Amino acid sequence: MKYIDEFQDPALAGRLLDEIRATVTRPWALMEVCGGQTHSIIRHGIDQLLPPEIELIHGPGCPVCVTPLEMIDKALEIASRPGVIFCSFGDMLRVPGTGRDLFQVRGQGGDVRVVYSPLDALRIAEQNPDREVVFFGIGFETTAPPNAMTVHQARKRSIRNFSLLVSHVRVPPAIDAIMRSPDCRVQGFLAAGHVCSVMGTAEYPELAQRHQVPIVVTGFEPLDILEGVRRTVLQLERGEHTVENAYQRAVTAEGNPAAQAMLSDVFEITDRAWRGIGVIPNSGWRLSERYRDHDAEHRFSVEGIDTREPAECRSGEVLQGLLKPNECEAFGTTCTPRSPLGATMVSSEGACAAYYLYRRLDAGTPGQRPPAAARAASGTPSPVTASLEGSPLA
Ligand code: SF4
Repeated sequence: MKYIDEFQDPALAGRLLDEIRATVTRPWALMEVCGGQTHSIIRHGIDQLLPPEIELIHGPGCPVCVTPLEMIDKALEIASRPGVIFCSFGDMLRVPGTGRDLFQVRGQGGDVRVVYSPLDALRIAEQNPDREVVFFGIGFETTAPPNAMTVHQARKRSIRNFSLLVSHVRVPPAIDAIMRSPDCRVQGFLAAGHVCSVMGTAEYPELAQRHQVPIVVTGFEPLDILEGVRRTVLQLERGEHTVENAYQRAVTAEGNPAAQAMLSDVFEITDRAWRGIGVIPNSGWRLSERYRDHDAEHRFSVEGIDTREPAECRSGEVLQGLLKPNECEAFGTTCTPRSPLGATMVSSEGACAAYYLYRRLDAGTPGQRPPAAARAASGTPSPVTASLEGSPLA
């Protein structure tokens, strides 16, 4: 398939790996920001093919995972109310709130519907003028523009029974917060290519300068990720810290002006809580005053919700790159995709789900498996790396 097959070419991957091996002289810790990149890395075993000096730390760029528990509980509360049709993308239905999830609300009689676009929810609102229709708007700069456009349409067409439960977040403030953390080990970032295709790259040079950290805009296929790693390592070895675009087939410096204009019209920047991390200043969007009538939080007044995270879930550490999923005691035992304790085990972009899908058969006991850095220090190859010896990707 065009734009996929040519970016999975094993011979080219081998050449990029050779270049990375020839470049690296000491340990470096890089963070891939997006959960889609994490899945690609784990699925293709890219972290295990890299030289042991390079550790990939999985970042917080999974929209489902970072949606705060309080917002999940608000969704559960609204979806339970009589007369409400609650619409969402499918992956939010299994995210555990305090004691239940949206699937259980549906099982208890709530009208919870899976849609494939916010415009589907708007159509449902048009078809059901006597019902309140709410769409759960979560995610980063990638999903915010279509949700903004849907609210814009609702206002323009006077569809008053449509509202948006907003939990949108922005990547640059999260990078800033990660770098400010006293526990931060990140020395370079693979920035999320699809986010930059919307927002461009203008927000990143100041971050790179302030934190003296290279930021390379990176795509999602194996060759994209290897090229992002190669460029980041090259900068680190040279002592540089600039912004580079390694995803030029999708990203321009200015991004998508039409999408940015829609965001500016409908949303305003606000502080936002990230699940497992806490409040990050200016890291989210909410509906601006002009569109406040379509704000589900405002319409349903869901305040004073008492939230409780499962004590054994360490997804906050996973989301900050402080813990690998298979180092959590609950991984693959009390926490699986069928009965997840945390959102990072639910989402198709969650790091815990990626490890469960592709790594759960690796040797070792949950909670006691050596992290990549320890493996690198001991020079021990992972079982997957060993099994690939002699292959074009090894
Ligand atoms: S494996 Fe499960 S319990 Fe552990 S951090 Fe991930 S989601 Fe939470």
